[in-house]
Amino acid sequence: MIEYEDLKKSNSKFESKFKQAFDRVIDKGRYILGEEVELFEKEFAEYCGSKYCLGVASGLDALYLSLIALDLPKDSEVLVPSNTYIATILSIVNAGFKPVLIEPKIDTYNINPKLIERNISAATKAIMVVHLYGKPCEMDKISALAEQYNLFLIEDCAQAHGAKYAGKKVGTWGMFGAFSFYPTKNLGALGDGGAIVTDDKEMAAKIKALRNYGSQQKYYNQFTGINSRLDELQAAFLRIKLSHLTEINEHKAQLASLYSRLISNPKVVLPVTQKNTEEVFHIYNIRCATRDDLKEFLLKKGVKTEIHYPIAPNLQPAYREMFAHSTFPISEEIHKTTLSLPISFSHTKEDIMYISEAINSY
Ligand SMILES: *Cc1c(COP(=O)(O)O)cnc(C)c1O
Repeated sequence: MIEYEDLKKSNSKFESKFKQAFDRVIDKGRYILGEEVELFEKEFAEYCGSKYCLGVASGLDALYLSLIALDLPKDSEVLVPSNTYIATILSIVNAGFKPVLIEPKIDTYNINPKLIERNISAATKAIMVVHLYGKPCEMDKISALAEQYNLFLIEDCAQAHGAKYAGKKVGTWGMFGAFSFYPTKNLGALGDGGAIVTDDKEMAAKIKALRNYGSQQKYYNQFTGINSRLDELQAAFLRIKLSHLTEINEHKAQLASLYSRLISNPKVVLPVTQKNTEEVFHIYNIRCATRDDLKEFLLKKGVKTEIHYPIAPNLQPAYREMFAHSTFPISEEIHKTTLSLPISFSHTKEDIMYISEAINSY
């Protein structure tokens, strides 16, 4: 059986280094927001090409804290892609703002800049883009729109650590780049974690306070804030993974290009590669009109696949009412037909050759 993802296997290369890091943290006796977090923040900011990085507890919190830090007026609208993972939309709802769903382009699965412009209203205050599956959005057009309409730009980079658009890393185009280090992400911890990168000194200081009860000085509370801190242990593990991130991304990109060369079944739509981008293949997704049948067929051939995501956010029970006034046909089409193929650090060229052959025999 070829698993969709075997985290133990993907992390096995780093196991002895993890154990050394564990011992180092135990020896130091500091568990939250210490030296390991500071070093990771410095190293990850450098990797992204950002001035500041703040470690937080999750990707969701990175998005939420970015929004809260902006002090937007109460009834602000935030534009967000209609086909994202639910966390992006939830961060807007939790922050008390109104998510306005924007349809993606059917070929790139990313937010359509033309539809962004069409949905800007007097209440619109921010755009939250998502580099879905590791494919960068069209950041030249989107940042020009943000500038033209005076909107804050936040990038959800949870699936795109290290991806570039026009030679510039994702996460550095707008005010904030929000990252998740959930274990399955390209840069994954051994538990939960997240980070925000920014070039704005004041905002960095504010996020630093907001993640820790709004406190800049111990027991003095300048803001309300939340508790969303990165553990020393996770930071120590992340420093190890970060030093191998290029290798992890390259491995996945090689597997992706092998899929794209080998899969030739006309029933299957392959992902497109955009000019001007360096994508990172968090996910390698294909589309197929008979997706569920293909998934079943592959399982019988010993290949496990995933669906990112089976239900469109606007059709989720918790959100249905919020978005009942409009329809999102492109998003729904993607959710009905998309299928993610195995593409982890532990998969081999042989795995990809076997899976591609199985797809071609469908
Ligand atoms: C994983 C993910 C998140 C949330 O990250 P957590 O660390 O699980 O909170 C947000 N947005 C996208 C696009 C994601 O894939």
